[in-house]
Amino acid sequence: MGAGGDTAAPGPLHIIGHDDAGCIAGAVRLPAEGEGFQTIHLSRSSFWGAPSTIAGIEELGREAHAAGLGDLYVEDVARPRGGPLPGGHVAHELGLDADVGLDVTPKRTLTAAEREAVELPSMVRADQRGVDPAHWSPQVVTLLHIAAGLPGVDRILVNAAIKKELCDTVQGDSAWLRMIRPWYDHSAHMHIHFRCPAGQHDCVDIPPQPAGDSCDATLQWWFDQLSAPPQPAKPYHPKPLPVACKAMMDAP
Ligand SMILES: [Zn+2]
Repeated sequence: MGAGGDTAAPGPLHIIGHDDAGCIAGAVRLPAEGEGFQTIHLSRSSFWGAPSTIAGIEELGREAHAAGLGDLYVEDVARPRGGPLPGGHVAHELGLDADVGLDVTPKRTLTAAEREAVELPSMVRADQRGVDPAHWSPQVVTLLHIAAGLPGVDRILVNAAIKKELCDTVQGDSAWLRMIRPWYDHSAHMHIHFRCPAGQHDCVDIPPQPAGDSCDATLQWWFDQLSAPPQPAKPYHPKPLPVACKAMMDAP
């Protein structure tokens, strides 16, 4: 990280690159807490993002609170200038992503030390084939529905067992399920990804999702993997940052 790595790169909003190799100038920091949310894991998380992302997280907190849900725990958003997060955590490089816990039970406001120690409960059974009734509730569905309707949201990644539960149980309007995509892990938190803000021509969106709610064979694939022979883990190689990002990272 360059000389100015702990501060936002100054100037107007400028987002460069892809979600897994990019950077941002003009980022703003999410407050430590707000209506309906508290940030956690402060020593290892980073809470900077595009102004529209930060506004989206605050909107999520407000709407969740208005719906009677307990405070949301928010962890990684992005570093002050984007780029890779520590620990091999992929994506989150453009200030357009946020990880939000799925636990919506009532909570008091925690101290900084308590926030450090929060462990988000998994919503998924140990066998990964369904949600865990000890933690899952209709209120989690409410949270996911609110998140899917946030302005500018592109997709929300959750464990395949959570997606399957929505496919099996959501009645009536289910068009919003298209926004909810199955992914590895993500059993205790959802990963919210926002599209590039308008006018950010150096910001590259992820290709659009296929049409439909994806409650189909593409979802079954995830469960077929659970009984497939284990594959050797692939080593993680971060992609190189765009050249323009190196200058942004190194600027004071
Ligand atoms: Zn994430």
